Amino acid sequence: METFQNFINGRYVDPASREWIDSVNPYLGEAWARIPRSNDADVDKAVQAAHAAMYEGPWAKMNGTERGKLLQRLADLVERDAERLAEIEVRDNGKLYAEMLGQVRYHPKWLQYFGGLADKIEGRVIPIDKPHHFAFTRKEPVGVVAALTAWNSPLLFIAWKCAAALAAGCSVVVKPSEFASASTLAYARLTAEAGFPDGVFNVVTGYGPEAGGALIRHPLVSKITFTGSDATGAAIYQEAAKQLKRVTLELGGKSPNIVFEDCNIDAALSGAVSGIFAATGQTCIAGSRLLVQNSIKDEFSRRLVELGKTARKGDPMLPETNIGPVTTPPQFQKIVSYLDIAKKEGARCILGGAPVPAGALPGNQFVEPTIFTDVTSDMRIAREEVFGPVLSIIGFEDEKEAVRIANDTIYGLAAGIWTSDMGRAFRVSAAIRAGTVWVNTYRAVSYMMPFGGMKHSGIGRESGIESIESYLETKSTWISYDPNVPGNPFTLR
Ligand code: NAD
Repeated sequence: METFQNFINGRYVDPASREWIDSVNPYLGEAWARIPRSNDADVDKAVQAAHAAMYEGPWAKMNGTERGKLLQRLADLVERDAERLAEIEVRDNGKLYAEMLGQVRYHPKWLQYFGGLADKIEGRVIPIDKPHHFAFTRKEPVGVVAALTAWNSPLLFIAWKCAAALAAGCSVVVKPSEFASASTLAYARLTAEAGFPDGVFNVVTGYGPEAGGALIRHPLVSKITFTGSDATGAAIYQEAAKQLKRVTLELGGKSPNIVFEDCNIDAALSGAVSGIFAATGQTCIAGSRLLVQNSIKDEFSRRLVELGKTARKGDPMLPETNIGPVTTPPQFQKIVSYLDIAKKEGARCILGGAPVPAGALPGNQFVEPTIFTDVTSDMRIAREEVFGPVLSIIGFEDEKEAVRIANDTIYGLAAGIWTSDMGRAFRVSAAIRAGTVWVNTYRAVSYMMPFGGMKHSGIGRESGIESIESYLETKSTWISYDPNVPGNPFTLR
């Protein structure tokens, strides 16, 4: 079994507690590694190191071009080690190797993109209305950033958060999920190899309330960027408010995937499947509410069931596997409980609807791809995030009703629209309250495109040029070259 250490101030160190948490391979159901159980003392060490790096160390003196070069070097190293990092992610979260490798191979794009942006962070000269004054703004890094991430795509979230934070000149302390920390700890070595000064990138692992709680409460942390559930996000937001910390929150979703009768049906079927069964449904952007126009609902559902039946469950490392295990035991229990809830609420199960029987596959953490139909918007299965391969089909009559149902949710992360009518595509995409709307595609993300949620799905955006602003403060500087001593000092100038 591999033992990992925290990464603090440029080196790997044991946790102060000398206690460890087993990291379990969800496919085999066996511990494969141990990660540190960190406490206040470890977090304090990491934050102090990050703070010193930012305000005293060489990082503080580096210009944007130099920071950009380091990010570029890190990009090359991630590219070099992509297969090893992806394999670690699969061992930890059980998602398909093909998907994790794709994500890790795409990760360097964030580092390159924000590396290129690092020396284009500019203030402005303001043609100020006061005589004999020169006034300008400068952009300064916001301070030490705490990055807390979820277990479903740990390194992708590092790309989203840390590329922008480091380009801005911040230092970071990452607290990955206790269920999938190993890839982030392995990644830390690459930041040192790339040449980032000690203390710029730190990782402390451990339980949410313990290590995560200590991190978000630490007075030297200026900004929290969090990816996880809306319940934890709300708790972190409250805690952050006590010290007026800046926050970016990337939270859950209950995204509508809307199929109109005029669409390319084959494309919509493929989009519906990738929307819910890819990643075993363990993705914040899962298209878990499939809204289908009543005129095609029965035939579309029938074909969807046929497609769903072809999904092969098994070892996530194998290329022929379509559906891997659920990542964590609590998540598995949660999904199974929603299967019962949906049936009790009157939803009709047309595919799956049960966990894979114990003993059929290793680890005993598989759920059959499941489709419920005759779902209505008031059912819990249509309102709450399941985070598993469970689809709810809801019928609608016309465009107006589709928009009403789509928006009848506390969430607003993403939505899909399938139609051949471009007028409808523009109308409906504008009417839906979600941070991302895909038309005739689903699950596309890019380092260039802002990503984030409306309503309970979050606050702020990651990726895209504008996201770097959330790691910067604007400072207004006034310089007087007035040769005269001003008059009455007791009035505002
Ligand atoms: P989670 O909220 O349980 O945990 C996320 C992180 O917060 C972990 O590192 C955890 O240890 C930490 N944490 C938990 N309690 C804490 C506390 N009291 N104080 C400080 N830190 C704490 O989420 P999860 O189960 O790991 O992830 C699944 C959720 O993440 C889903 O709701 C999913 O939709 C969401 N998610 C959102 C996005 C997005 O970009 N919007 C992406 C992926 C996942």
